[in-house]
Amino acid sequence: MARWILFLVGIGLLESATAPVLATEKQPPNILFIFSDDLAFQAISAYGEKRQLLQTPNMDRLAREGIRFDRCLVTNSICGPSRATILTGKYSHMNGFYNNNNSKFDSTQPTFAKTLQQSGYSTAVVGKWHLVSDPVGFDHWQILPGQGVYYNPPMVRNGEKIKESGYTTDIITDRSIEWLQNRDKTKPFLLMAQHKAPHREWSPAIRHLGWDMDRVYPEPETLFDDFNGRSRAVADHDMGLEKTFTELDAKLTTPTGMTPEQLTQWNAFYAPRNEAFRKAAPTGKDLVRWRYNRYMHDYLGCVKAVDESVGRLLEYLDQEGLAENTIVVCSSDQGFYLGEHGWFDKRWIFEESLRTPMLIRWPGNTKPGTVNKDLVSLLDVAETFLDVAGLPVPKEMQGRSLVPLLRGERPSSWRDSFYYHYYEFPAPHRVRPHYGVVTDRFKLVHYYNSDIDEWELLDREKDPLEVKNFYKDPAYAQTVKQLHAELERLRKEVKEPETTPPEAYGKAPENATKKAAVPK
Ligand code: CA
Repeated sequence: MARWILFLVGIGLLESATAPVLATEKQPPNILFIFSDDLAFQAISAYGEKRQLLQTPNMDRLAREGIRFDRCLVTNSICGPSRATILTGKYSHMNGFYNNNNSKFDSTQPTFAKTLQQSGYSTAVVGKWHLVSDPVGFDHWQILPGQGVYYNPPMVRNGEKIKESGYTTDIITDRSIEWLQNRDKTKPFLLMAQHKAPHREWSPAIRHLGWDMDRVYPEPETLFDDFNGRSRAVADHDMGLEKTFTELDAKLTTPTGMTPEQLTQWNAFYAPRNEAFRKAAPTGKDLVRWRYNRYMHDYLGCVKAVDESVGRLLEYLDQEGLAENTIVVCSSDQGFYLGEHGWFDKRWIFEESLRTPMLIRWPGNTKPGTVNKDLVSLLDVAETFLDVAGLPVPKEMQGRSLVPLLRGERPSSWRDSFYYHYYEFPAPHRVRPHYGVVTDRFKLVHYYNSDIDEWELLDREKDPLEVKNFYKDPAYAQTVKQLHAELERLRKEVKEPETTPPEAYGKAPENATKKAAVPK
C-alpha cells in the first residue's frame, strides 16, 4: 500500500507538502489482458482435452508459469454481454447489456478501466470491442467496428476510421506492441489486446492454411446427440453442424475483403478440397463429419495465430524487463462447442459454453503450475484488477477479487454456487432464454419461455457429457428441492428483477415479460 501511495503522490493525485513529485522505485503491477472471442478451452493444450486437437505452447507457458482456472464461468454466454460484465463486474440485468441485437453499452457506469485511468494507469484497448458505444476509460483505443473481419480490416482509432492491411489477429498484436513501445513509461499500464479470432466464420491466416496436413480429427462422443429425454428447448436449437452450418462457414464460398494475392493463396488451398467435396457429395452423417473436420481445420487454425500472438506479447514483456511486474490474463468471452452435441456456437449453460479458459501469470504472487477448480467467473475480473492495483472497488460490482486464489489462499467463504442467465432469442440460433444455478456437481436450469416452460437437472458427476435430464428422477428429489432454494437465494443476491424487460431478448419472444416463477 505504501508503494501505491507514493505512486499516487508521484503522479500528483495525492497532495503532500513534503514528498517530492517522483516516480517510485516499483510501480503498481501492469495489467496485460489478452482476450479472445469464442476461444474454447478444448482448443488449448494446457487444458488437456483428450482429443488433443491443437498444441498451444504459448498459452501453455502461461499455465506453466502461473495458474489455470478450470471452472471460470460466464454470466451470459455471448460476446457483448460478457464484455460488459468484464468491464463493470455486474450481471447483464445490472449493466443493461443483455444481447448482441439491440443492447448498447452505457459507458457512464463505473468500469475498472475508468478507475485505473483516473488512478494513474496508462490505458489502451486494441481489437474487438463489440459494445456499440465508443470505449471510455482508455487513453488510446483502436477497435474493429462490430464483429470485425479477418482480412484487411477497417478499424476505428480514437474515433477516426482507418483501414489496416493483413490478418486481423496479427494486426491486433502489432498495434498492441506498438502502443506498449510508445506508452508513457512513468506510469503502470493496462492493455486489453482483444482478438476477433476464433469467432465465426473461422478464417485462418493464409500462412496457416493446411496447417493440419488434412488430419482427420477425433470426434466428440456427442457429435450425433439425439437429445433423447432432454428439454424440448435443447432439441429445438438452430446451431448444429447438420442443419445450421452455412456455405461460408464451410469455406465453400469465399470471405470478402481479401487482396488478389491473398485470394490466390486461399483458393490454392480450398478450391481443390472443395472440388473433391462436391464430387463426393456426402450426405447424412458423412456430411456432418466432413463439416466437422473442415470446421476444426479452420477454427483451430485461427487459434494457432492467437497462440502466436500470446507468444509475441510475452516475448515483448521479457525483452523489456516487464514480465516480473505484469499480471497477464489470457481468457475468452465464453467457451464454444467444438462439435459436442453436434454444435458450434455457445449460449447454453452447459459446460463447453459456460466455462471459459482463464490463465493468469503473476510472478511473485501466483505459484507456477497451479490448477484451481473453484467457481470463478469473468464477473470477477473487474474487482481483481482493482485489487491488484490496490484500488477500492465500487459497491455496485457483483464479483469477487481473485487475488486470494491467485496467492493460493482460498477464503472459506468462497462461492459454492453461481447464477447464470441467457436472454438472446429467437435469432440467431434459437437458444431459448434460460437461467439456472451451477454448483460443483449440479446445474438446475429453467427454460422459461411461454412456449416451452421446462426444467432440467444436470449431474456432471454421473453424466459428464451432459446428455441426461434428472429433474423428474425421484432419486434426485431432495437435490432438486435444495437447488430450487439456492436458485431463489441467488436471484435475490444478484438482484434479479421479477420481470425482464422485453428488449433484453433482442427481439421480444411471446410473453417475454412473464414472471419466471419457480414451481413449488
Ligand atoms: Ca464471443
